[in-house]
Amino acid sequence: MTTFNDFGLHADINRALAAKDYTQPTPIQLQAIPVLKQGRDLCGIAQTGTGKTAAFSLPSIHHLLTYPHRANPRSCRMLVLSPTRELAAQIAQSCRDYGRFTKLSVSTVFGGVPINKQIRDLSQGVDILVATPGRLLDLIEQRALRLDDVEIFVLDEADQMMDMGFIHSLRRIAKLLPSRRQNLFFSATMPKEIAGLADQFLNDPVTVSVAPQATTAEKIRQFSTFVEQKEKQALLTAVVNRENIDRALIFTRTKHGADRVVRHLAGAKIKAMAIHGNKSQAQRTHALQAFRSGDIKLLVATDIAARGIDVSGVSHVINFEIPNVPEQYVHRIGRTARAGAEGMAISFIAPDERPYMRDIERVTRTKSEPMPLPENFSELVRNLPKPVQPPRDTGSKGRNPQRQREEAVAGRGDANRGGGQPRGERGPRREGPAADGQPQRKRRFRPNRGKVGAHKGAVKRVG
Ligand code: AMP
Repeated sequence: MTTFNDFGLHADINRALAAKDYTQPTPIQLQAIPVLKQGRDLCGIAQTGTGKTAAFSLPSIHHLLTYPHRANPRSCRMLVLSPTRELAAQIAQSCRDYGRFTKLSVSTVFGGVPINKQIRDLSQGVDILVATPGRLLDLIEQRALRLDDVEIFVLDEADQMMDMGFIHSLRRIAKLLPSRRQNLFFSATMPKEIAGLADQFLNDPVTVSVAPQATTAEKIRQFSTFVEQKEKQALLTAVVNRENIDRALIFTRTKHGADRVVRHLAGAKIKAMAIHGNKSQAQRTHALQAFRSGDIKLLVATDIAARGIDVSGVSHVINFEIPNVPEQYVHRIGRTARAGAEGMAISFIAPDERPYMRDIERVTRTKSEPMPLPENFSELVRNLPKPVQPPRDTGSKGRNPQRQREEAVAGRGDANRGGGQPRGERGPRREGPAADGQPQRKRRFRPNRGKVGAHKGAVKRVG
């Protein structure tokens, strides 16, 4: 049986793996690490949860340690692109863990947080940089970063990148990379257009695949219940009260839907938080931490926000609404049953969602087990507690001035709004989604009332 020691990785990496109690490589690690160590390009078909982060970062760290040299200022030796900030932060943390006995530096850059700290972090150069595409291009435009020293380039979750409209950003980034480099390309699915994108980046790659396209993880028990849309909340409350939940991710189609579910649960005295693109970075981080630490057992999420989140011990995934893209279903339920644990997925299917579920079952070649409605369901529907009222400070006009001030002081305000941002911070890019893949907000015009320098170039600073 192959163990990590058989790969011949640098001793400092093996130490870190022992510290993390990794004994046996996962299938993707078994296939990918030897070829990556030889310097080959790799096309990996694998989803989050398979151990792909270690599959690409261990041999890359090995390379960086085998050919040691300082990164040049405003450069990086390894660049990892991720579609979302959550995934970027997670990958960076894994790299830090695997490199904890080395002196390698790891930085992240993504939108929604002030850019100036990121500019400072990059000024000395970093070994491993994990970035979302939009913010990366912002930094390049501001001359805070160059890509000509990249030795290893990793594009993670390529299918998600395409879904989020990052294709133009990726093409621009591809042009800035040096021609001599090692390329790693990962995607959970490999339809034609993704294969086309892979061709643009990869040079004679080895392809490894750990699960056939769009097959659902075997360890997940899948159930479904037919229910009217307006009765789903009562069903959710019943399921949450009945099931023995360690941690559950609840998926809704829309951000407002996610907030509504949280308010209804709060009405029934059930603690939950929502994570989606309308939340500030601080709120998202807070919700994820609360979920990770077990402070809350229920996290309500939209697909984009939840993509790539790796929280161990998710016992249940509840599809409050059914995705209309089968692959999305596979991604959702892949949040549970991680690292060998068993998981359960429960889908609430409204009449108009039945065709979506049929598509899902056709593509995944699995059939979920029917889960009947609770016996006293009509009573539960009638007695469903009222939702807690939404807080009044959600809109920009009615925002709590004190909180706005605090956010401004903390420099984390709504990063796209200008308030409280350090000078030089810019709004989202026009092209594609915002830097972090969240929907764009309109930039507010902030007139510079008659101050010196109101018109750029009008007054030249001297001295
Ligand atoms: P990933 O697919 O990279 O997001 O990894 C999924 C989870 O599996 C992470 O929590 C990793 O820490 C964990 N993991 C990765 N490789 C191994 C391994 N060989 N043994 C045990 N756990 C692992």
